[in-house]
Amino acid sequence: MLATDSQKYRLGLFWFSNDLRLKDHPLLVRAAQQCQHLLFIFIQSPQQTRGNRFVASRMSAERSRFQWQTLQSLNTKLKNLEQTLHYAEGEPTAILDGLIEQLQPDAIYRARQVASEEKHPWQQLQSRFPNTTFISAAVQSIYQPDELPMIVDALPDTFSQFRRLIEQAAPNYGDAQVLAAPPSLPPPPTEIDQQGSQPALLPVDKWQARLGDSSTTDAAEETQLTSPPIKGDEDTAANFLHAYFQTSAASHYKETRNALDGEFTSTRFSPWLANGTLSPTQVLAALGKYQRLHGRNESTYWIYFELLWREYFQLYALKHGNKLFQLRGITNKPVTGCLYGERLARWINGTTPYPLVNACMNQLRTTGQLSNRGRQIVASCLIHELQLDWRAGAYYFEQQLLDYDVASNWGNWQYIAGVGADPRQGRHFNLKKQQQMFDPEGDYIAKWRGDEGACGAVIDSVDAADWPVSVPVSK
Ligand SMILES: Cc1cc2nc3c(=O)[nH]c(=O)nc-3n(C[C@H](O)[C@H](O)[C@H](O)COP(=O)(O)OP(=O)(O)OC[C@H]3O[C@@H](n4cnc5c(N)ncnc54)[C@H](O)[C@@H]3O)c2cc1C
Repeated sequence: MLATDSQKYRLGLFWFSNDLRLKDHPLLVRAAQQCQHLLFIFIQSPQQTRGNRFVASRMSAERSRFQWQTLQSLNTKLKNLEQTLHYAEGEPTAILDGLIEQLQPDAIYRARQVASEEKHPWQQLQSRFPNTTFISAAVQSIYQPDELPMIVDALPDTFSQFRRLIEQAAPNYGDAQVLAAPPSLPPPPTEIDQQGSQPALLPVDKWQARLGDSSTTDAAEETQLTSPPIKGDEDTAANFLHAYFQTSAASHYKETRNALDGEFTSTRFSPWLANGTLSPTQVLAALGKYQRLHGRNESTYWIYFELLWREYFQLYALKHGNKLFQLRGITNKPVTGCLYGERLARWINGTTPYPLVNACMNQLRTTGQLSNRGRQIVASCLIHELQLDWRAGAYYFEQQLLDYDVASNWGNWQYIAGVGADPRQGRHFNLKKQQQMFDPEGDYIAKWRGDEGACGAVIDSVDAADWPVSVPVSK
């Protein structure tokens, strides 16, 4: 729990990012106690939506729908406490610069960010406004920095070393305590015009009215969802968490977690952990309760084990900064990888020669979801069979995944590409074997139509000099 001083600030600015919840939010509780007035904002940075040389856009319509629904729901919760979530689109530094000049807040609160793009505006504002207090906390992590047995710069190079140190220092993960949502919040500042005369910053519902609900219809048109789209809000997350631990799935998690499909084979908590409507502490508290009721075994422990992977990658991103996004990763090892457009398009559209890869990519493209095993298989294929630059795959995952998390995504891609935390220097999955092990009857391939687009044995329709290759492709 963070230290607090009651109402010491006239005005605080609370900048929501990937912490879109009211429950189990120590930073929010602190802000609510310290400030007489609070302004809540969410900023959509153009950097995180527009394209680059790898992808046309970094956020799919489905991801955008998921985010928007989450923001609306958070706004409803804030409204119940006589507050409002304000929304702005633009460079965070420029928007906040203007707001700080105008409103002169005493303090700014934000969940700790781990990657360079997200950290940058915070650092810039800190140096530009030395008289404003900037307060952040690791509300999306299991452990606060002072609870870790090492400083970030001394994070071990492998997950196993990290896990051993953590388990020695903090063995009782099941004792996690969840913090209640604040029962009330300080009111918004009177200077903020609720009618929306400040174009940069609008209450979420007014922004929605301005968009004419296009944010949701676009998503529905672009994706052919086979099941209802999942909701990103705090109540859905809490209900799902509860439903999972009502079953006995946790007692079998280790045996089922590698499945390509199926209800409760893995926890499916990741979309809510990624947008922060669920905290890892809430998961651990529910897990602890389950263990006390039904007993602890290797499977129940393994849920914590996987959450530690997430924790590791958060710290890994903090430690390695921009190296997270570089071709040579953290190893600086020379690697090859081209940007062959036709191969990338085949991978994305599920028309490679590999039905299992195609099925996975079809699922990802149309739903924004994919199992961990599926991610490993398609990543390995992109790197090893298609010999593409692994960052093209990582950016495509960023665009599509509803659970996109900068640290987990880029850390896992580096791991498979052999330029990250893998002591075995990369993973090359045998696609035939994977199919035999994880889809022996071909049900998954049939469900996601992995056979339909398969292009035979030849990947390229033209050679390096742009001449058609001699064996024609089937599609
Ligand atoms: C190439 C690649 C890219 C990935 N990109 C992301 C991403 O953008 N966002 C994301 O949350 N996960 C990512 N993962 C990790 C993992 O695939 C997902 O966390 C997992 O599939 C989510 O499903 P689940 O909630 O059912 O996981 P479970 O198996 O139930 O695990 C429980 C929780 O532990 C965490 N976790 C599990 N495995 C990992 C892992 N390998 N790395 C980090 N955390 C893990 C997740 O928070 C997950 O919700 C990626 C993995 C690969 C191989």
